Amino acid sequence: HLQNSKSPQGLVGLRNLGNTCFMNSILQCLSNTRDLRDYCLHSSHRRDLNSNSRTHTTLMEEFAKLIQTLWTSSSSEAVSPSEFKTQIQKYAPRFVGYNQQDAQEFLRFLLDGLHNEVNRITVRPRAHAEDWDHLADDEKGKKMWNKYLEREDSRVVDLFVGQLKSTLTCSECGYCSTVFDPFWDLSLPIAKKSRGCDGDEKPTCHRCKARRKCTKKFTIQKFPRILVLHLKRFSEARVRTSKLSTFVNFPLKDLDLREFASDNSVNAVYNLYAVSNHSGTTLGGHYTAYCRNPTLGEWYSFNDSRVTPMSSSQVRSSDAYVLFYELSPPPRFYSFFVGLFEITPYFPPNRGCGWSAEPRGCPPRAGSWSLFFLISSCGCYRTAVNERIPNLK
Ligand SMILES: [Zn+2]
Repeated sequence: HLQNSKSPQGLVGLRNLGNTCFMNSILQCLSNTRDLRDYCLHSSHRRDLNSNSRTHTTLMEEFAKLIQTLWTSSSSEAVSPSEFKTQIQKYAPRFVGYNQQDAQEFLRFLLDGLHNEVNRITVRPRAHAEDWDHLADDEKGKKMWNKYLEREDSRVVDLFVGQLKSTLTCSECGYCSTVFDPFWDLSLPIAKKSRGCDGDEKPTCHRCKARRKCTKKFTIQKFPRILVLHLKRFSEARVRTSKLSTFVNFPLKDLDLREFASDNSVNAVYNLYAVSNHSGTTLGGHYTAYCRNPTLGEWYSFNDSRVTPMSSSQVRSSDAYVLFYELSPPPRFYSFFVGLFEITPYFPPNRGCGWSAEPRGCPPRAGSWSLFFLISSCGCYRTAVNERIPNLK
């Protein structure tokens, strides 16, 4: 089933070391995160290794070694992640032992650990409070983001971190205050919902100078390259008392989040490439992963040491727990000149894949012919023979 490929190229299972399916599931999702995989495969992480890090860079090294093994191994036999496990336990002692853990929580710890070791910032500037309340929201958001990057700046941040904007509106005086926070993932039931804050949650209104009932609204100020969506199935990650096995109908392609954007002119269309699944109950359960191989473009099921091909129609299930989406790049267009004049198409950004070309340059001379191929980054093409190309759609 390895499809004309001599080596298994990422289609290698991970041995279960005793209740470590939560770890295996997340590792496979990350192994199929193209940019993170390439970062490890090209050993680019070596450049960034930050020797000031408290774990002395061994977690990143072990992670990269494991990814390299999964992608360059000549046999399809399952690999043991035991050395990696030893390192993650040093970083996050709560993963010591062989108890079942929460995959989403593990992902957080792992990304945080990797980030710390390859943080481009070796000396963090001293934190000082700044008052940006007089600035326009967008300006304030940018300042807050730059302030974050002054302390936390790595390949992991480049890929996974976005910025959330929360707007609090006082129900008495209507005063609006905005706060910007970086996020590594979004937990679905709370994200994007307007909700009232009451009781102990009542925040202080800066205009009324008193605790007021207010509405809180979240929008996404900056979309991350990789969007991790956590379907909050468990009542609480640590003390799991109940689980919802509701079927969530999430799209595999073209998840358009522009309606949740602070500024809806941005590019916010995502495609799914990996899912960490949890089957079973709060007491006993099992984690697997469904991932789209970034090289082959096909879906595979990773169940510890077993890797099997699957159809994309099986990806959505009521076991889906953590979803990994990749931002689809704004389409880029190439024109190939095969004639007497050249058109330099102008494509307004963030329009999805559509044609919207304005011809630039000389018009064709009467009696001459010209042939153009316009090819977009997603592979759509169209030819144009001896014609102006106004607003192709
Ligand atoms: Zn107020």
